[in-house]
Amino acid sequence: QNSSTYRGRFAPSPTGPLHFGSLLAALGSWLMARQAGGVWLVRVEDLDPPREVPGAAERQLAALRAFGLESDETIVHQSERGALYQAALDRLLASGDAFVCHCSRNDLADDGGIHRTCIAARTRPDPAIRFRVPDGTVLEFDDAIQGPFAQNVAADVGDFVLRRADGLWAYQLAVVVDDAAQGITDVVRGADLLDSTPRQILLQRALGLPIPRYAHLPLVLGEDGRKLSKSTAALPVDPADPLPALHAAWRALGQEPLPSDAATPAALLGSMRERYDPSRLPRTPALSLAALHNVRD
Ligand code: GLU
Repeated sequence: QNSSTYRGRFAPSPTGPLHFGSLLAALGSWLMARQAGGVWLVRVEDLDPPREVPGAAERQLAALRAFGLESDETIVHQSERGALYQAALDRLLASGDAFVCHCSRNDLADDGGIHRTCIAARTRPDPAIRFRVPDGTVLEFDDAIQGPFAQNVAADVGDFVLRRADGLWAYQLAVVVDDAAQGITDVVRGADLLDSTPRQILLQRALGLPIPRYAHLPLVLGEDGRKLSKSTAALPVDPADPLPALHAAWRALGQEPLPSDAATPAALLGSMRERYDPSRLPRTPALSLAALHNVRD
């Protein structure tokens, strides 16, 4: 496979139904992949059983199918990929980039939960494993939508968890391992993950992995200003009636309204694919639902 081929992905966590923010990330990443003549994958990020809603993964995938958004390759589930994460963790432990940490949440409370150095008074049978972020580590990258983004990872994040004390894999490690294993060249996702990206780039560097291009779509906030997935005002995303939500997601991507004559999601996606203009994407980290209602009329 040609290494210059665009490979994008949509990676939902099965913590509930597909909400409008996820549809936006799915459609945005699909349009960018299609426009580049590339491949688009769906990956189920089911790393955290306690936060998972039974049946949610299947329902999210069924909803994506109803919206006409189907993975070009076999869908992988993170719950089945522990061996890959363990191999990466072993490399980081061997290189000294990762370390065993006995600190509890309580130990770190005085420092706002940020880990700089181990201060645990006693060892625990179930330590966490963290990535070491040396003092003064500032990371900057150029986001394709949001522009330059800089973060003082040492001051603002500290040494971050790779494997939790309860044995679960941290999102930051799993996402980096899987993006590399799946040959992802372009990560397109919601701007709520903008401040996770520097951690992911640090991990890619430490593991010697290629660094994908990043594009963070604006987050749609509810009328109450909260993230849509957590807002009571969530726009309904009804897989039984997919066209209105697809039109709304298209408008939230800043695109010119399309005629409402498409009868099926496939037909509508076909005209979106022809008309998609990335220069129209809103270059802000957040859009309010109220603004979205205005553009919808
Ligand atoms: N699974 C993550 C989420 O649903 C997204 C991961 C990503 O796109 O990097 O928030």
